[in-house]
Amino acid sequence: MAQVHNFNAGPCVLPKQAIESAIEAIRNFDNTGIGILEISHRTPGWERIMAETEQLWRDLLHIPDNYEVLFLGGGASTQFFTVAANLLNKKAAYLQTGVWAKKAIKEAKFYGEVEVVASSEDKTYSYIPKGYTIPTDADYFHITTNNTIYGTEIKYDIDSPVPLVADMSSDIMSRPVDVSKYALIYGGAQKNVGPAGVTFVIVRKDILGKVERKLQTMVDYRTHIGEEKKNKSMFNTPPVFPIFVMHETLKWLKEKMGGVEGINKINKEKAEMLYNEIDRNKMFVGTAAKEDRSIMNVCFVMAPGYEDKQDAFMAFAKERGMIGIKGHRSVGGFRASIYNACPVESVKALISCMQEFEKLNA
Ligand SMILES: *Cc1c(COP(=O)(O)O)cnc(C)c1O
Repeated sequence: MAQVHNFNAGPCVLPKQAIESAIEAIRNFDNTGIGILEISHRTPGWERIMAETEQLWRDLLHIPDNYEVLFLGGGASTQFFTVAANLLNKKAAYLQTGVWAKKAIKEAKFYGEVEVVASSEDKTYSYIPKGYTIPTDADYFHITTNNTIYGTEIKYDIDSPVPLVADMSSDIMSRPVDVSKYALIYGGAQKNVGPAGVTFVIVRKDILGKVERKLQTMVDYRTHIGEEKKNKSMFNTPPVFPIFVMHETLKWLKEKMGGVEGINKINKEKAEMLYNEIDRNKMFVGTAAKEDRSIMNVCFVMAPGYEDKQDAFMAFAKERGMIGIKGHRSVGGFRASIYNACPVESVKALISCMQEFEKLNA
């Protein structure tokens, strides 16, 4: 098979090393003679993987001790309502920076008043609103740090007067964050830290237990924190295999890529290379406001005058092994997702492809 370059937005490229370990673990997990898909989650070998995975999260993101790290099912979309159920008493504040944020807002409304402090919907979410005021009477302020569909990113930690909650599905572990500035961070693993099927939640314990409503057992974060350490994220059967692949992905990040700080340097270089080409190339133009450009999802369209070449470029890129560069239907054009595991070579291959296309068509 010819070489492919995977720019899928999620699920997406994973480190080769993680895939190889996963294949081996399916055959024989931890020298038990049985595979990981067939093993009980109450065996010591598995409990060790759970503990190590949590430790990797703590080490890589420098998570303070008063935070819990949970691995749950249901995807980030389940967190849209879980967050509100656990934290929203009267009113919550949301920053509407994209469709994912809008979906989170919709779910929060089941539990109380939602104040949308600012929205960039007027310009197809091509920028991050600034200069808004976070209401001090809100129970929390919710942001989406990376807007996967539009390629915009809040690349700094916001100072919030109320507990800050962040959907970091698509930029977690891509750059250092000061966890202590957040009350809760969540996301689906399938963009940057593993395969689909496991959701991470990092939560500061003291914000829990303050809502008046009764919570269903599975909705209450405290159930998953548990009382005994060994029950953490194991109230019910955890997504064993996705957690295993996450474990291997994070091991790769820590041991081979220099952790979050190391990968952030590489991510910035990859993004800069690609944005430079978009800005230089006559045939393409970026869609996100320059100061808000995501280092994870790079969105671009054909430049004015070349709109009719879109399908031709798509076919041209496909012939050269570029996979998953079609933009989301709401933005059109192209989106290259260049997550942690996307090699620099893939970014270079896409750039060459754009340059060749320009030579032949401009
Ligand atoms: C992909 C994505 C989601 C949805 O995640 P699921 O795990 O599919 O529910 C939510 N928020 C953001 C920012 C995403 O990129």
